[in-house]
Amino acid sequence: MRSVFLAVCLMTCHQAAAWSDHASLAWPMLRTDATLMQSRIVVEPLEFFLKSEAAGIAKVLTQLETSMIANDPEYPPTPEALLFDASDADDLRRQFIAALRISPRLNYGLYRQVMADDVIAPGTETLGWSDLSYLPSGDSVQEREYLPLTAGERISPAYILASASDEPDLGMDVGLYANNSTAAGARYGLGEQPFGNPNLPYGSQAPLHMGFYHLDVITEFAQPTLKRTLPLWRIKQYEELARLAFASGHEYWGWRFMGWALHYVGDLTQPYHTDPLPGVNLLSALWSVVMGDTNDLIQLVSNRHGVLESYQYRRLLALMQQGDWQAPLLLAISEPLTACFTPEGVVSDLTAQSVALGAGLDETLSKQVPSRYVSDPNFEWVGYELEADVVALISAQGGDLAIQAMDNELKRHLRRFSYYLQGWITHSRTLERGAKPS
Ligand SMILES: [Zn+2]
Repeated sequence: MRSVFLAVCLMTCHQAAAWSDHASLAWPMLRTDATLMQSRIVVEPLEFFLKSEAAGIAKVLTQLETSMIANDPEYPPTPEALLFDASDADDLRRQFIAALRISPRLNYGLYRQVMADDVIAPGTETLGWSDLSYLPSGDSVQEREYLPLTAGERISPAYILASASDEPDLGMDVGLYANNSTAAGARYGLGEQPFGNPNLPYGSQAPLHMGFYHLDVITEFAQPTLKRTLPLWRIKQYEELARLAFASGHEYWGWRFMGWALHYVGDLTQPYHTDPLPGVNLLSALWSVVMGDTNDLIQLVSNRHGVLESYQYRRLLALMQQGDWQAPLLLAISEPLTACFTPEGVVSDLTAQSVALGAGLDETLSKQVPSRYVSDPNFEWVGYELEADVVALISAQGGDLAIQAMDNELKRHLRRFSYYLQGWITHSRTLERGAKPS
């Protein structure tokens, strides 16, 4: 039944950024790990890795292509012209970007994000969002700073992992579909964008950052394009490249690829990225179809998704800037867990749980946030001028109780994020160790 109105979703499905600033989200955990904080990794430009491991890269990508085609009926095969050709040594960079089918508009250069507890010497050259990304700079990216890195300098795995985990939101996955009016989209063989607005800056990355692996049978039947989500492909691509990079002594790229993959793991911990309309039950769905206001439902979900991200970003940023690392919200990320996670658990474990928590999250937002922002379909939260004041807006109406309820809900999701983050770190270490001669 939900499928009836999901048709509308194909046109207007909410934008996908998921958590805002993945680097800061992982930082409370990463900064506590002494071995990850050691500046022991030599920074290396992408070209060096490509040049010295071209044959290995070709092999890894060929194996992955074969396994994706064999195991995922929704996977759009890589056009033959894009397959990585190790023998063409002068063109490896362009080829690599095309073979991965990522945006050619980023330069994949050497940088790291400045974190809240960084001490940066006065006069140090820093970069801003627009130095790294071609996407418009929204509210949450204005304050971010980055440091350029130089080949040969040493850096810690923590900085590489944190910075790289936000990199896919710089535009790596934007404009890749045939109907995105881009040269890459015309060549990449991913077909038409299966859902989301092809004209919104972030809209076209949605199918790569959302994983609808648990749709009900009716929806799957009526809206098969919702099954064409690809984060699992991205995770496997980068995991396999990391394995190769570690095994061949390119640790910088090992950690950077693991960071890229971590982005998608993080996105999938958010219920709004695993269910197109969480918290919408059959009755509301039917009623909305009868009343002809299905667009309204989608706008509400979009606004709730947006408010959640704004709240997460503002709450965590304020605590980190104050250095309040013992605050319960930051401890939810930093307290150690025994976590075990690899890409094999994405569908059976990670996204299954995210879907299960969607209704509760949606309910908390609808109860605790002023109704204008989360229950008025004529309102648009994303880009709202008071987006940065989200905590004050919620507090003004619901007081401490509302903040408490929002924090408790957020804590639950941050704890889950931390579980998968810690599992991913363990997995990264295993790959790194496996690489070293004993
Ligand atoms: Zn994302």
